[in-house]
Amino acid sequence: MASTEPTIFARIALREIPASIVAETDRVIAFDDISPQAPVHVIVAPKTQEYRNVVELAAGDPELLVELIDVARGVADERTDGQFRLVFNTGAEAGQTVFHVHAHVLGGHLEEGSLGSA
Ligand code: AMP
Repeated sequence: MASTEPTIFARIALREIPASIVAETDRVIAFDDISPQAPVHVIVAPKTQEYRNVVELAAGDPELLVELIDVARGVADERTDGQFRLVFNTGAEAGQTVFHVHAHVLGGHLEEGSLGSA
């Protein structure tokens, strides 16, 4: 179980912190990354902070993971030509800084062959 301190993404979902929200369902929220690493860079997260990373989410609530990916696909349909990268950083050494599971939707002109650092 994650810490009871609300994460930054939980606070965005509660409208306690402003963000440029691009899509929302009852359980998932998508918003522009504050520090974009690509022409299109959107964060898609469950509103709950119960799951710290995608492995925990897949084990704990696979339907919510499917819903998250469906929201990501919708964002990509709107913001990209249908070609995009979906990144789940998992663990601090992999670059994860917010321990509330989230996907990065990256699109636009991405560097060829790069694994990306978002
Ligand atoms: P990660 O490094 O995978 O944990 O990704 C965290 C991402 O959240 C980074 O790309 C940050 O730029 C982004 N981020 C942090 N704070 C905010 C915020 N208040 N609004 C939007 N994006 C944020």
